Amino acid sequence: MNTLKIGWIGLGNMGNPMVQNLLKAGYNITVYNRSKDKESPLIALGASSATSPAELIKSCDVVITMLSNDAAVKEVFENKNGLLATKNPGKLIINMSTVAPETSRYLAEKCLENELNFIDAPVSGSVKPAQDGTLVILVGTSKANFEIAKPIFDILGKIAIHVGEAGVASSAKLAINYLLGLNLQGLAETILFAEQNGVAKEDMLSIINEGACGNGITKIKGPSIINDAYPAAFALKHLVKDLGLAKDAGLDSPLIHPLYDSYFSAQQEGLGEQDVMAIISSLRKKD
Ligand code: NAP
Repeated sequence: MNTLKIGWIGLGNMGNPMVQNLLKAGYNITVYNRSKDKESPLIALGASSATSPAELIKSCDVVITMLSNDAAVKEVFENKNGLLATKNPGKLIINMSTVAPETSRYLAEKCLENELNFIDAPVSGSVKPAQDGTLVILVGTSKANFEIAKPIFDILGKIAIHVGEAGVASSAKLAINYLLGLNLQGLAETILFAEQNGVAKEDMLSIINEGACGNGITKIKGPSIINDAYPAAFALKHLVKDLGLAKDAGLDSPLIHPLYDSYFSAQQEGLGEQDVMAIISSLRKKD
């Protein structure tokens, strides 16, 4: 039995499988989710439930947040029943949501004022790696905090890379998601160009994935392109958020602006809740 008591806030597409892996590893977990129905499957697997973030932190040594965006994370930290509402000196909070580097530094500062320890720990990898415990975890914190959290990261991911202090990991996360956005935009444009010239999408996917241009993400997204069905693993609205955060953090390269506009336009067309690969549906309409 692992002795650290963990509190988990945010049971969306990522949080749910990550908690399942910690339960399987023998951790004592208390969960909190805004929509209570998402807690039930985890309670059935042995988790306890808390009525608020403030109540949750009281009974835990470590609290992990996995929430949509900066506003959600700030709300969970700062509202009247939030993590900072009561004194809990010495406890550790790990934010694994993707947020602005500035938000991570702000949260680290707030935790310091409240005698709490803080880790900025966004993840690279989607629902399947979350289920398999093979996420890549980007860690921004002190060496001492990293050592405390390492056994937890070892369950959730295949590697945890300590990149610096809080904020640096969020910057690394925005950088890798820029590359993700470029990859998927490129994949979608390539498939559509090939189709317009008589190449079946199945054949084009084989050409990509059997050659040097294939990579992990082009392989993962192949089946959804073939079936033309995009249930969210990584919702398109989250990539729009991340590319916007990258721009706000100073990314001003030749491709970021058209890339952001393309995903933003797909979101405006109602594709925000679909998987990010639904960018191909948006581009197809514009052919
Ligand atoms: P998701 O499925 O949309 O889940 C979001 C979670 O945040 C839900 O538990 C939701 O609660 C909660 N939430 C949203 N607003 C809230 C608020 N104001 N107060 C309290 N709770 C709130 O998101 P996800 O796909 O799990 O992603 C979570 C984070 O990981 C995001 O920052 C995303 O960018 C990042 N990420 C995602 C992936 C991926 O492939 N999905 C990969 C890497 C990183 P309700 O259930 O009540 O809505």
